[in-house]
Amino acid sequence: MRELVYGTFASEGRAPSAAELARRTRSSVDAVQGALRDLAEAHALVLTPDGDAVRMAHPFTSAPMAFTVTPLDGYDDRRWWGGCAWDSFGISAALHLDVRVDTACPQCGTPISFQAGPEIPPPRELAVRFPRPAQEWWDDVVSTCTMIRMFCDRGHAGQWTTNNAPGRGYVADATTVWRLAEPWYGDRLDPEFRPHSREHNQRLLDECGLTGSFWKLP
Ligand SMILES: [Zn+2]
Ligand SMILES: [Zn+2]
Repeated sequence: MRELVYGTFASEGRAPSAAELARRTRSSVDAVQGALRDLAEAHALVLTPDGDAVRMAHPFTSAPMAFTVTPLDGYDDRRWWGGCAWDSFGISAALHLDVRVDTACPQCGTPISFQAGPEIPPPRELAVRFPRPAQEWWDDVVSTCTMIRMFCDRGHAGQWTTNNAPGRGYVADATTVWRLAEPWYGDRLDPEFRPHSREHNQRLLDECGLTGSFWKLP
């Protein structure tokens, strides 16, 4: 079930419907929805508020969000919505694909467009702001992703924070988030993928210098 959801996101940029999953697994829609609920409870994916469709399977999202991810290969006509700055790098990491990421700076509205890939870091001046500590990410993970945005630079991220959420959040270099996305998401599409343990993921954050209480996973 999980493989079919991820495979459809990877090849078509969308989530399969429950009826489609039922047909492809030769089971009932009820059985599929039960399996999707189990996956959602394990945080392996996120369902819509009504609980009957896939909203996100990190790093993929089925609904428009602030980032678009486009293959650099002009013959590859796939496109994905990036749920957040981290997920946009995650799509490149999971697909082992060089991409162009398009978004806009929340502070000044300037379009931001850059190339990234497993061997291509994003421009070094770009900054990513995380809205809330790791402990709270899954309280409302869609909202968390919505707020993990990319800014022109640390200055604009700082101004936005002062104006909108004084004293809250964490600003990281985009290159740090890019580096984190590779081990965090790089194995997501592997047939033998196993969810990372909390300790494993904590170590990945540590290795990128993301330490302290803000980054302590629940
Ligand atoms: Zn800006
Ligand atoms: Zn995200």
